[in-house]
Amino acid sequence: ICPEVQEEIDQFMKSFHKLDFHYKIVGKTGEGTFSSVYKAIDLRYDRYINDWDLDERTSEFHSPRSKRQRLHHSKEKRVKYVAIKKIYVTSSPQRIHNELELLKDLSGSKNVVSLITAFRHLDQVIAIMPYFRHVDFRDYFRKLEIPDIQLYMRSLFTALKFVHAKGILHRDIKPTNFLYDCSKGRGVLVDFGLAERESDDGTCSCINSANGFRKESKQNSSALGGYPKNDQRPSKRANRAGTRGFRAPEVLFKCNAQTTKIDVWSAGVILLTFLSKRFPFFNSPDDIDAVIEMATVFGRVRMRVCAALHGATFETAIPTITEKGHSLGRIVEWATARNKDNPLTSQEKAALEFLEATLELDHRKRLSASQALQQPFLTQIDP
Ligand code: ADP
Ligand code: MG
Repeated sequence: ICPEVQEEIDQFMKSFHKLDFHYKIVGKTGEGTFSSVYKAIDLRYDRYINDWDLDERTSEFHSPRSKRQRLHHSKEKRVKYVAIKKIYVTSSPQRIHNELELLKDLSGSKNVVSLITAFRHLDQVIAIMPYFRHVDFRDYFRKLEIPDIQLYMRSLFTALKFVHAKGILHRDIKPTNFLYDCSKGRGVLVDFGLAERESDDGTCSCINSANGFRKESKQNSSALGGYPKNDQRPSKRANRAGTRGFRAPEVLFKCNAQTTKIDVWSAGVILLTFLSKRFPFFNSPDDIDAVIEMATVFGRVRMRVCAALHGATFETAIPTITEKGHSLGRIVEWATARNKDNPLTSQEKAALEFLEATLELDHRKRLSASQALQQPFLTQIDP
C-alpha cells in the first residue's frame, strides 16, 4: 500500500467508531464516483473460527462440521475478505438508503453482490459486502477469445435477468460495475447506487407527453440543421443517470418511461467493446454528442425512427452521418483492421448477430435479459 493510501485508511479507521474492532483493512480495491472501496479482513469471522479452535482444545466444541472437514480448511479459507464501501458523505441520504435497500432485496444470486451489513457513524455510511477477486477490464478486454466473451456475457445477462425479475433497473451497467474473474469465468454485478425500481407502467408515453417540450422540429430547423436558439418551451426532462457511452437511445432522447431494456443496451455496448477491441467505444462528453456518435453508426433513417418513438425529431447536417449508417459487422471490421486475408470468423459473425439484437435502437424490439440467455450465442459455448 502506498503511503498516501495508508494514511487515508488510517484516517478512515480512526474516524469511524469501533470499525477496527470488526475489520482490518488491507488495501484499497476501488474508487468510483460516489465512494471509496477497501478490501478488509472480517475479524468477526476470524474470531468465530478461532473460537472453534479454542473449543477444540477443551474438546467442547459444537461445530456443525466434523473435525476432519475442518482440518481440511486451509489457512486461506479461514480468512474471510470483505469489501467496505465508504459512501461519500456528499451523497444524499435518500440515495444511500435506496442503494442499501435495493441491495438487501437482491440477495440470492451468485452473480449479484449481496449486502452483509451496513454501519453508520455520524454522517458516514459504510456497506459491507463479500470481497470479489477480479481483474481490471483494461487488462483483459483485448485478449478474450469468443468463448471467453460468451462466458462473460452469460454471466452478465444472468445477473441482469435476476435483477430485472425483481423489477429493478441497474442503470449503470459498465465494466467497472461488473467484477469479472477471468480464471473462473464468473462475474458479479455491483454498484446499485443509481439503480431504481421499474415504474409500474412500463409503456413509453413520450409521444403524447413531449409536445409541450422544447425539441427540434422540421419547421424551425434551418437547412443547415441548426436548432432554434430562443425556444421558450421548457426542455424535456427524464432520468439520465448512468455513464457516458453506455446510455441507451431512449435515455438520450429523454424517454420518461425507461425500462430494464436500458441495461441490455449497456451490456451490448460492452460486447461491442470486446468485438471492436476499443474501450471506451463511445466517449462523448454530453448527450447531444452521444446521439451524434450513435447516429454515425446507425445512420439518419434509423435515428429518425427512434427519435419519433420518444416524441423527438432527429435532424443533422453533419456530412459523416449517412442515411443508412453502417452495419455493426462493418464497424467491427474497421476497428480491427480486417481485410480479405483476415476476415471475420464464423464465431465472430455469431457474436455480431447477438450484438445486433442487444444494440437494437427500439427498446421494444431489443432482447430482454431472459431472452438473451436463450440465444444460441449464450447457450452454445464451445470451450
Ligand atoms: P461507485 O458507486 O463509487 O462507483 P462501486 O460499488 O462501483 O462504487 O465500487 C467502486 C469499485 O470498487 C469497483 O469498480 C470495484 O473495483 C471495487 N469494488 C466494489 N465492490 C467490490 C467488491 N464487493 N469486491 C471487490 N471490489 C469491489
Ligand atoms: Mg461503480
